[in-house]
Amino acid sequence: MTVISSNLGYPRLGEHREWKHLLEHYWQHKLSDADFHTTAKQLRLANLKKEQALGIDYLPVADNSDYDHVLDTLAAFGAIPKRFGHFDQALTLSDYYAIARGTETAVAAEMTKWFNINYHYIVPEFDDVQFKLLDNRWLRYYQEAKTALGIDGKPVILGPVSFLKLGKRHGDYLDAAGVAELLPQLLPLYQQVFAELAAAGATWIQLDEPTLVKTTNPAELAPYRKALTTLHAAVPTLKIVLQTYFDSLDLYDEIVKLPVQAIGLDLVHDHGENLAHLRTSGFPADKVLAAGLIDGHNVWASDLAKKAQLVQELQTIAAPDHLWLQPANSLLHVPITTKNETQADPVLLGGLAFADQKLQELAVLTRAANHGIAAVQSAFDLNQAKLQALNNSTHRNNQSVRAAEAQLPRQTFERQAPFATRIKLQHARLNLPLLPTTTIGSFPQSHTVRAKRAAWRKGALSDADYQTFLHAETKRWIALQNKLGLDVLVHGEFERTDMVEYFGQKLTGFYATQNGWVQSYGSRGVRPPVIFGDVAYTKPITVAESVYAQSLTTKPVKGMLTAPLTIINWSFVRDDIPKAQVQNQIALALRQEVQNLEKAGIKIIQVDEPALREGLPLKQRHWQAYLAEAVYSFKITTTGVKNETQIHTHMCYSNFADIIDTIKALDADVISIETSRSHGELIAAFEQTGYDQEIGLGVYDIHSPRVPSVAEIEANIQRALRVIKPRQFWINPDCGLKTRQEPETLAALKNMVAARNAIQAQL
Ligand code: GLN
Ligand code: ZN
Repeated sequence: MTVISSNLGYPRLGEHREWKHLLEHYWQHKLSDADFHTTAKQLRLANLKKEQALGIDYLPVADNSDYDHVLDTLAAFGAIPKRFGHFDQALTLSDYYAIARGTETAVAAEMTKWFNINYHYIVPEFDDVQFKLLDNRWLRYYQEAKTALGIDGKPVILGPVSFLKLGKRHGDYLDAAGVAELLPQLLPLYQQVFAELAAAGATWIQLDEPTLVKTTNPAELAPYRKALTTLHAAVPTLKIVLQTYFDSLDLYDEIVKLPVQAIGLDLVHDHGENLAHLRTSGFPADKVLAAGLIDGHNVWASDLAKKAQLVQELQTIAAPDHLWLQPANSLLHVPITTKNETQADPVLLGGLAFADQKLQELAVLTRAANHGIAAVQSAFDLNQAKLQALNNSTHRNNQSVRAAEAQLPRQTFERQAPFATRIKLQHARLNLPLLPTTTIGSFPQSHTVRAKRAAWRKGALSDADYQTFLHAETKRWIALQNKLGLDVLVHGEFERTDMVEYFGQKLTGFYATQNGWVQSYGSRGVRPPVIFGDVAYTKPITVAESVYAQSLTTKPVKGMLTAPLTIINWSFVRDDIPKAQVQNQIALALRQEVQNLEKAGIKIIQVDEPALREGLPLKQRHWQAYLAEAVYSFKITTTGVKNETQIHTHMCYSNFADIIDTIKALDADVISIETSRSHGELIAAFEQTGYDQEIGLGVYDIHSPRVPSVAEIEANIQRALRVIKPRQFWINPDCGLKTRQEPETLAALKNMVAARNAIQAQL
């Protein structure tokens, strides 16, 4: 009985980010369209050859993209927003990129998070759309692989229902009625794609319907059933694998009956529920079970012996010759290979598996299933030895960290006095005016800032010279803030590239990868740190910067930290212990940092939690546990200070109405929220539920270089003051300013202070 290995999608960026550079060179007009296409083809084929060489049986094709797969889908089906023009044939590259990046006359399409992954897709706009098949890209890439490499690929296509549900009409995501209305117009085009693939000899197509993991009510299955029934009836020779990922299927029993030939299940990020369904309900004998058993969004090597046991069990559930082994989701979301991590501790390296290593694992597991474990015994032995070495290493056995953590269940973390008492002490101490002004933390990371950091990293600039530069920049900005007349100042975060890396460099247990890039959106990659060991506080992280800034001014300077949950969400986290445990280790470390800031004379400390909302689990039933863990770790971090020390927090997303209780439970003295683009809903939520703490609702949008006028900012402040008391309200931009240019930043802040002054005078 033969087990097959199959992949769902391969990372686009390239081992040395060749794909990123290709796109960016093209945008800089350094390449012709023809040259772009030649290089893009070479990269696609190189990826396929690599997957094949790693021993994978069924290879995905058309999983590649020139930007994003949702953009590809809307471009292929002619769902192009009108402002970009009218199209009767396949888009040119420059038309395609216009949608993603905007032009002088048309704003770019919106981008949003892909499920609960740190990848961003282009949001389709289905306002007066007329679908038309402009480009059968699935056929093109199928034929390309076949002609060039003789590979009978498995084209990957975003399913019609998920495609529709991920898009908006008149500003709102499509609801069931919208899907039901548009689906009949879209299906004939999918049908044509399928028919052309079948005629070209394709055997399988991978139809991704990730929105299936969010369906809970059998009535919601109607559009999926309709789509699959139609497609299967129209093109019966093309076999469909209905691929799901990122969580379990609540409607498992119904979904496995849909008219497809294979079902892809996530057996890693499913909270054990998909496996439970397989065990209790079994699996239809006429379908292939495409078992996603390798983690597709974390970086750890699998325990092969355990996975082999799972495979043995799955063999008893699936019919003979009806089992595929796969990653749990597309490998797009992990870095490509560990082989360039030449500076990693070998003990850590042994425990890491990026995309290529994951495919190797699949090949080994497939061989084990087909030829017995003896055939791959040495690979299994090596895997056990490496995992043991990592788990037994000192990195993962820090006794004092573990002891502090073991105390936690017996501890609660609260400020010494309730907010009402604290705030009086803080007002007396800080002596701020009504409607105090401040910023969210970072100031522009100019070309010079980035160049100095790069030089320092390369060793071309000494530690001392780099420090001198950072101090000079902070000093310049303290003077600018004083001149602007801001009330609470910041040091500017010039030492940080992002919100996590700097903390990782100063805490134990973090590894900054050399080449662990993953696509965040378009050509943009991020390199999340790997949290591989126990996290301990061994030295102050930010104290020196804050103290230096405070020494330059009599106004209060805010200390600036990233909260534990955000650090976790933007990292690859060890999976040998629960995530919450790692989060609490970080919280215990940051608690010491907060206390050290206080000891050093810092009176206000901001602990940013921008990722709280975006990290919410896909299924609402898991929200409560997640939010409770977030609140607990935030309070470990922030409650170790005196009543008169003021704790601020900042969050980056405006849609908080449904978790407002959590925001209150954080018990921060001041919270600032990014709301300049959608005030209404949030203000209403605060109004309805009542909120005592102080609050800053961003009074202008920092995501654009536009300088807001005084009148416009005044109007935003007035709107908030209709429901929030003046003594509760802070005036600040809606997020950090690091991506802005200096002149526009100064102009905007000047207007912000002027608007505040005008309103203050009327109070
Ligand atoms: N303090 C951070 C900054 O200003 C906050 C950034 C964020 O919210 N994403 O850059
Ligand atoms: Zn923000």
